[in-house]
This record gives sequence, C-alpha cells and structure tokens, in this order.
Amino acid sequence: MDDCQLYSTLLELKMPWKVEKVALDSTKKTVEIYVSHEKGSKLHCPECRKECMVYDHLKERVWRDLDSVDFMTFIHASPPRISCPEHGIIEALLPWTEKTSRFSMRFETRSIRMLQNMDTFNFTEIMKLSWKQAWNIIDRAVKRGRSRKSGHPSVIGIDEKSYRRGHKYITLVYDTVNNGVDYIAYDRKKKSLDEYYKTLTEQELSSITAVSMDMWDPFMSSTVKHVPDADSKIVFDRFHVTKHVNEAVDTTRKEENRKLVKGGVMDLKGTRYIWLYASDNLPEKYRERYNDLKRSDLETGKAYSMKENIRNLWNMPSLEEGRKYWESWYNWVIHSSIRAMKDVARMMKVHIERILNYFIHRITNARAEGINSKIALIEKMAYGYRNKEHLKIAIYFRCGNLQLYP
Ligand SMILES: [Zn+2]
Repeated sequence: MDDCQLYSTLLELKMPWKVEKVALDSTKKTVEIYVSHEKGSKLHCPECRKECMVYDHLKERVWRDLDSVDFMTFIHASPPRISCPEHGIIEALLPWTEKTSRFSMRFETRSIRMLQNMDTFNFTEIMKLSWKQAWNIIDRAVKRGRSRKSGHPSVIGIDEKSYRRGHKYITLVYDTVNNGVDYIAYDRKKKSLDEYYKTLTEQELSSITAVSMDMWDPFMSSTVKHVPDADSKIVFDRFHVTKHVNEAVDTTRKEENRKLVKGGVMDLKGTRYIWLYASDNLPEKYRERYNDLKRSDLETGKAYSMKENIRNLWNMPSLEEGRKYWESWYNWVIHSSIRAMKDVARMMKVHIERILNYFIHRITNARAEGINSKIALIEKMAYGYRNKEHLKIAIYFRCGNLQLYP
C-alpha cells in the first residue's frame, strides 16, 4: 500500500475522491494530504444531493484533520463547483467536512467531545489550536444543534442564575421534558422572559401546558401576559418555596442569637449549619447539640419545626389534601410569635394557588438545579469569557442537550 492508498483508506474517501499526494515535513512535524477527484466525475449537490457535472474549481483550501502520530495533519483540496439544474453553480459537497468549516468532521466531533469534558484552555493546548479556533468549533456546534431542534417544549421551567460573583443575572428557560436549557436571556427582568415568549407563535404559546418558576414578579407577569390561561399553568417551584422558608429560619436564628448574646447566653452561637439541614439529613456530629436545642424553648427550634412540616406539603396525595395541609400549617405559623416565619407564610398565602398547582402538574425545577451547578462550573472553568455572549454559547454547548456533532 503506498502513501496515497494508505491515507485514502484512513480518510475513508470513496470514489471519485482520492488522495493525490502526501507530503511529510519532519522538521515542522506536519503531514499534508492533497485530495482531488477523478477527472470527468460527477459530484453531489449539497442541497439536493443530486450528481452533477463539475463546473470549475475554487482556490485551494486547507482543513485540519486529526494528527497522524503526533504530526499535525492537513487536507488540501481545490473545492469543485458543480452545475446543478435546480441550484445553479454551487460548491460541491466535500465528504470530509461541513461547508464553511476549516476542520474535518472527525476533528470537530473529537473536539466537541473533549470540549464538553474539559476547559477550553487545556483543550487548546492538547489539540494545538488557538482560543479563537476552539471557540469557532463551539459556536458552530451550538448553531448546528439549535438549528436541528424541532418544536418547542410544552413544559418549561424558568430560573435565574447569577454570574460575575452575583453582579449579573441571566434568565434560563428549561425544557423540563428534554432536560436542557432551551433559551437564555440577559438579566432577570420581565423583558428578559418576554424575549423568549416572543420567539414562539401563538399556537406554540397555547401549547405550553405548565411553567415552573420561583415567586418572582417579573417572570410571573411576563408569563401571564404571553401564555393563555397562565394562572392554571404556573407552578411555584417547591424548592424555591422551601428556600424562602429556610431563609426565614435563618433570619429567626440571627435575630434570636443577637438577643441571647446581649444577655450573655451563647446557646445559638455557631449553630447556623445545624438548622439548614433537614432533620433526616443531619450529620451525626450535630445530632447531640441539635437534640439539646430542640428541647429548649427557643424560637429558632420552633421555626425549624415549621420548616420541617411544610416540606411535607408536597407529599400530600391530592390538591384537596394539600390545601387542607397548607391551611393548618398557615394557622399554626400565623398564630405564632415568630416574625420572619409569619412573613414567609403571608408571602406564600398570596401565591398559594400557584403553589398548589403543583398537585395538578407535579413539576419542579429540580433538574434545573442540577443544570445550575453545571453552569457554576462552566463559569469557573471558563476564565476568559471575553464577552458575555460566550457564556451563553457555553451554556447551550454544555447544558442545551443538543445534537452537536457534524
Ligand atoms: Zn441541487
């Protein structure tokens, strides 16, 4: 087997495509492969795949392929133009690459797989590429994946995520069935979410059956404005609700601790983490202290019991049972003397129909929370997102659940 045959086989070229010449440069450590087609052969139209006569050839172009034993490997060819009866004079389909790419499909596929599992900086080192070239692969993959998406999700989750150490926000729309980020908008305002709904047709908007979100007014008003019958479709996410309750417990602890410390009592000092756990998740090392605290007559202990109780709301078997459970919890809290807990109970009461919509749709943002931690990782790994558009693209790339390969 000579060089040309060897590389024709490695490149999986089929007639009429063939390797004409292979040039090896041992100082530069490169392999240059020159590819052409048999004279007089017909080639495929990229639009209709029909075999057409060759019209002329464009100037030589170069594509990077996977290395040959650590030698950087390049394919050279003069792209032929064909004359298609339907599509006119047009560049023929090149079997090793996608139109507009400077890499072979093999190279792009490998790169995408690597980039999904490592940060861009390490990737460029290993693959001997520039930062810009790496971004080009990511950007193209995302465009490819998003153009392949068909239809819109009927069940969505909406969440906000802070970046730049909490200074900036993005709004994320999740496809809760497909488990991927469907849309990203800057900021967390009403118009951020409006932007998403505006990409949907009236019919697509009516086909949305449920929307999971936090009790966040801008998202609510945007959804009410765009989605028909939104009131019966919005579900306030249980994890966000319990987060608010958790925060109220923490506020109670802080306030009570301040009072106690003033009187020289240190009972609550250093207990913050104890109260953040669910009782069934409490690490053994905290157990004794926790039991002591629970036995004492502290407001924090009572607030904690309230929190533990409301978690059970979502285990109720039906809307009716859920409503009953809520009402008794609300009465308990509102007749207590714990200010922060009463505040959170009042806030929940305002939104209770949408919290109880859970029993109709049974959706949460739990999966989205998983994606959220992935995004935090992306932000950490991506030192050098020079523009904010890059963050968006990186999120689609890693969390879009897209078909990215050429
Ligand atoms: Zn054609």
